[in-house]
Amino acid sequence: MKKLQMVDLKGQYEKIKGQVDQSIMDVVNSTAYINGPEVHGFQKDLEEYLEVKHVIPCANGTDALQIAMMGLGLQPGDEVITADFTFAATVEVIALLNLTPVLVDVDPKTYNIDVDAIEKAITPKTKAIVPVHLFGQVANMDAIMDLAKQHNLFVIEDNAQAIGADYTFKNGKKQKAGTIGDVGATSFFPSKNLGCYGDGGAIFTNNDDLAHTIRGIVNHGMYERYHHDVVGVNSRLDSIQAAVLRAKLPNLDMYNAARQHAARKYSEALSKSENIITPTTFTHKKCDVKCSICDTCDCHVFHQYTLRITNGKRDDLVKHFQEKGIPHGVYYPIPLHLQKAYADKRYNEANFTVTNQLVKEVISLPMHTELEEDQIEYITTEILKIVD
Ligand SMILES: *Cc1c(COP(=O)(O)O)cnc(C)c1O
Repeated sequence: MKKLQMVDLKGQYEKIKGQVDQSIMDVVNSTAYINGPEVHGFQKDLEEYLEVKHVIPCANGTDALQIAMMGLGLQPGDEVITADFTFAATVEVIALLNLTPVLVDVDPKTYNIDVDAIEKAITPKTKAIVPVHLFGQVANMDAIMDLAKQHNLFVIEDNAQAIGADYTFKNGKKQKAGTIGDVGATSFFPSKNLGCYGDGGAIFTNNDDLAHTIRGIVNHGMYERYHHDVVGVNSRLDSIQAAVLRAKLPNLDMYNAARQHAARKYSEALSKSENIITPTTFTHKKCDVKCSICDTCDCHVFHQYTLRITNGKRDDLVKHFQEKGIPHGVYYPIPLHLQKAYADKRYNEANFTVTNQLVKEVISLPMHTELEEDQIEYITTEILKIVD
């Protein structure tokens, strides 16, 4: 059996080495290291892939979220509702901009933001909702978009974990995750589903005016050289990273399909145990056409494969994995509303029953494009020894 790894970036690289090495050397030789043709080329390729009007590359996913919020003109004191169960970057940028984060509970099946909880949290100060497509599963965008329309709120999708996922609306229409709300943000951190070899990120929108505003914000608030109309930032995707991403983008559907295949194998082995809840996937019966990346037509691209261990043995499993050298992760061990930086007297524990439980039960298994069946068999056998 090959050595187990949480992610296998080397194995993935080796399969495309010739092309990636050439692309990187072309940038090195061109000396167009900043805003070179590769950046514009990648932008166009990604616009085409996502079927979105505008992609604005930037330096990382956290910047992408921050810049999206700046572009929408959110003002200090505006309330922004997001999920209590996510990576801290989502809430961090809300707080940094002096907006007021309002954390709400998540759905126990999908771990994504709970739509009823959003509705209850809306006040006259609410300006935006930030759904996070956690672990690769698209949030309930049908209901979120309806709610946003009803209350005149912006929707900013944190798509750092779900690039390439298709979302199928109730009426059968399909759209790529991150292109559904007013604006979407993603990360190209190396371990993400589309990762570069350093830091990178991008913002997506179909709104021409917003795209124009954001293109200025990422470039020091300049719309004309040395005219600074708004306070901006410096956030760029560098040309070498763009070249890597351009080489990898044509493989993204295949990469996501490999993740889905591994997820199916894990779930086949683990769903027999009554102490384990495997990730929920949805089959959209209304689709008559099978989507390009999977044969079940679900909208989960498995950035993480995350189980719930419901008999209190999660920590025993962590210990067993440590002893056996099996890589794993607990995403996330502490709900955001209990983090020192984001605690707020207004929060009531009774409103966070799901996140408070998830943090005790979740464990994420190795998940990447190079996983092999004997590895999955070994990992699932070791899990059942402890949990069953
Ligand atoms: C990775 C991630 C980010 C931040 O991306 P960086 O590129 O590391 O800044 C934001 N939100 C979520 C949900 C993430 O997983």
